[in-house]
Amino acid sequence: MNKIKQRLKKVKSLMRYAESETGRNKGSVQLLAVSKTKPTAVIAAAYQAGQRLFGESYLQEALAKQRALAAYDISWHFIGPIQSNKTKAISAHFNWVHSVDRLKIAKRLSEQRPGHLPSLNICLQVNISDEATKSGVTLEELPSLIDQVGLLPNICLRGVMAIPEPATGFESQCLPYRELYQTVKKLKHVSLDTFSFGMSGDLEAAIAEGSTIVRVGSALFGKRNYK
Ligand SMILES: *Cc1c(COP(=O)(O)O)cnc(C)c1O
Repeated sequence: MNKIKQRLKKVKSLMRYAESETGRNKGSVQLLAVSKTKPTAVIAAAYQAGQRLFGESYLQEALAKQRALAAYDISWHFIGPIQSNKTKAISAHFNWVHSVDRLKIAKRLSEQRPGHLPSLNICLQVNISDEATKSGVTLEELPSLIDQVGLLPNICLRGVMAIPEPATGFESQCLPYRELYQTVKKLKHVSLDTFSFGMSGDLEAAIAEGSTIVRVGSALFGKRNYK
């Protein structure tokens, strides 16, 4: 488990290096540790090493881990695809949702958010590579979805999330993020503070293009085993 501590340190120093190289303020990018498919013990080890933000993609798996770690002060982020029948549990058990891709899901999360909890922080997932298989709204649909979601009472629209098509080379990794960042910044009437950009393979490019939170799994916890 000491390996996790070392990898956390390594990823964080890479983040700080990318911030300084690209003119970003030191510490302006947060680290979301993506623990999907990994056992509870792995989360506990990262927590002992100081990590507090964890991302999960599969609801039942996440709920089991949350029960086991109920005593821990963790900020839980849901980052997976969302079906309508999952919104009730997601709205009750997470602090953030990065993967909202349609108004219907946002409405349900708002309606179902328990009254004793603060507003649910959400990001809209944007499909910036036009891959038919990836979920997310198009850049063209984004402005009107932002306006509609912004009116919902129990959610707080914080920003956008994107998973671009894997690309090699720094510049080609940068381009899709740049296009989305500029699209959002052009919307003068909205102020979003979160750009959920970057994973293990492209976090430097994502940070160069305005990321405020990187979602890192395999660089921290090793390859995932899907059974
Ligand atoms: C799994 C996952 C990640 C982490 O990917 P790595 O390449 O392992 O860092 C990030 N974001 C989302 C939405 C994911 O599903």
